[in-house]
Amino acid sequence: MSNWKYKLYQFMQGRYGFDAFGQFLIIASAVIILLSNFIHLRFVYLAGLALLIYAYFRIVSRNIYKRQKENQKYLAIRAKFSRKKSGGSVNNWQQGNTGYGQGAAGGRNENAQYNFYRCRNCGQTVRVPKGKGTIKITCPSCGNSFVDRT
Ligand SMILES: [Zn+2]
Repeated sequence: MSNWKYKLYQFMQGRYGFDAFGQFLIIASAVIILLSNFIHLRFVYLAGLALLIYAYFRIVSRNIYKRQKENQKYLAIRAKFSRKKSGGSVNNWQQGNTGYGQGAAGGRNENAQYNFYRCRNCGQTVRVPKGKGTIKITCPSCGNSFVDRT
């Protein structure tokens, strides 16, 4: 481990770190600060800056319990939004993201050109074109790779 990494590691001991809410705060603050360049309103810039400081404060915070509560609240709000967007069905959205769902929708002809493998690590179905010989297949879901014949 290089020196600065070790120092960072020591610094982060017992501190909260990064989570989904922290990621949202960073992105939101970046967007607001960027926007403030166009609208020229000082309080917009300050609001973005405040969000950024808050995001940083959460990362180094030692009150892990409170930060986790914040993150849970954020995730609950986000889940509500994604349900609204997809018209009341979260399941639909998840299916659309799997390779298997796309292959099945493509019909018989498309299925004839592909083999389906189940990832040994997470169970995700991976679609691979037929007749490529022995290839390395990387799972899009978990990043696990395995070698197989197609
Ligand atoms: Zn996997």
